[in-house]
Amino acid sequence: MRTQVGIVGAGPAGLTLGRLLERAGIENVILESRSRDHVEHRIRAGVLEQGTADLLVEAGVGERMQREGIVHHGIELQFDGERHRVPLSELTGGRSIVIYGQTEVVKDLIAARLESGSPLHFEVEDVSLHDLEEHPRIRFGGEELECDLVAGCDGFHGVSRPSIPPGVLRIYEREYPYGWLGILAAVAPSSDELVYAHHERGFALLSLRSPELSRLYVQVRHDEDVAEWPDDRVWEELRTRVGPLTRGPVLEKGVTGMRSFVAEPMQYGRLYLAGDAAHIVPPTGAKGLNLAIADVKILAEAIVAWYESGDRARLDGYSDACLRRVWRAEHFSYWMTSMLHRDDDAGEFGRMLQLSQLRYVTTSTAAATSLAENYVGLERV
Ligand SMILES: Cc1cc2nc3c(=O)[nH]c(=O)nc-3n(C[C@H](O)[C@H](O)[C@H](O)COP(=O)(O)OP(=O)(O)OC[C@H]3O[C@@H](n4cnc5c(N)ncnc54)[C@H](O)[C@@H]3O)c2cc1C
Repeated sequence: MRTQVGIVGAGPAGLTLGRLLERAGIENVILESRSRDHVEHRIRAGVLEQGTADLLVEAGVGERMQREGIVHHGIELQFDGERHRVPLSELTGGRSIVIYGQTEVVKDLIAARLESGSPLHFEVEDVSLHDLEEHPRIRFGGEELECDLVAGCDGFHGVSRPSIPPGVLRIYEREYPYGWLGILAAVAPSSDELVYAHHERGFALLSLRSPELSRLYVQVRHDEDVAEWPDDRVWEELRTRVGPLTRGPVLEKGVTGMRSFVAEPMQYGRLYLAGDAAHIVPPTGAKGLNLAIADVKILAEAIVAWYESGDRARLDGYSDACLRRVWRAEHFSYWMTSMLHRDDDAGEFGRMLQLSQLRYVTTSTAAATSLAENYVGLERV
């Protein structure tokens, strides 16, 4: 088998890259180790930056998002028991965010892919990458796919990053001593906008996926046992940290660890890493999915330029072009996380610094604008 671009992983990065290349007339094959059902139902991110939403529309997969996505013009920061609105659109010349679940983005991309007939293989086994310097090949389930280029879009635990020889990558990493216990509940959101709450018992977040589905989180230990959190305990903890809210049936419950991670450079030979395969952010800044889409936009443009002109300059500059945005998002995500989470190591001094920062961000237009432009996504980094 032969194709122009072999794409490993059918998450947001791989599927969006496949779509962009297909529309530019570049053949590609997507290989995914999980089942379609699994990929379509993984509950993850839900905040799309303006630039992400615009790209999905341009790629012809934004129609349902435009119909069902909920546009938000602000977020709330809660501390000392009071809520303060950060008017995102007012502070960023009218830019906004769209609430539309990653599950829905992935479903739309898969539907478009199946309609176009471009190859997308689920449940492929034993994926391995070979000869990445010159003539890349992807082996899977007893078959071999030759390609001009390979896009490693297989997430943090995929095979692409570990296929790069030792000593090539520089890794920057930070683990946090806490995590999020999240629930998805079949109940209308208790707040019109997202509420990020600082509380002495720990951080909490009121979020949503749709007018009927709430997504709610409380800060817990990174190794918290979800069995210790029956539904009533989760609702009670949310009420304590955020205030009164409407309860409903809990459809999903899980603990997510928090990590910052960057692998540099995001390329080796003819292998290009994109999305979580190259970098991870803690979810507080709502950046993971948006970064994955920003990477593949740059990668698709570089690949198209290479096929059109034979000039490798943009492909060679891929990693540097992505890393500017990646590091901005790494800092923003770390900063939001540090400002809002209870940190026992930082003690009372740390808590007072957090409160001072929160007061500053909610009273100074300059500070609020900095948060807002990062949250909706910087156009230029
Ligand atoms: C539990 C959880 C909650 C999250 N919550 C948020 C949030 O609230 N906000 C936010 O912004 N971000 C969140 N994120 C991050 C966000 O979901 C990711 O940044 C985003 O999914 C990245 O997309 P991706 O395509 O790079 O990787 P992924 O979505 O991880 O996709 C990678 C794909 O590759 C496949 N794959 C893996 N190994 C192989 C292999 N060997 N061969 C073939 N295929 C393979 C995987 O099955 C997967 O489908 C969360 C992540 C997790 C894990």
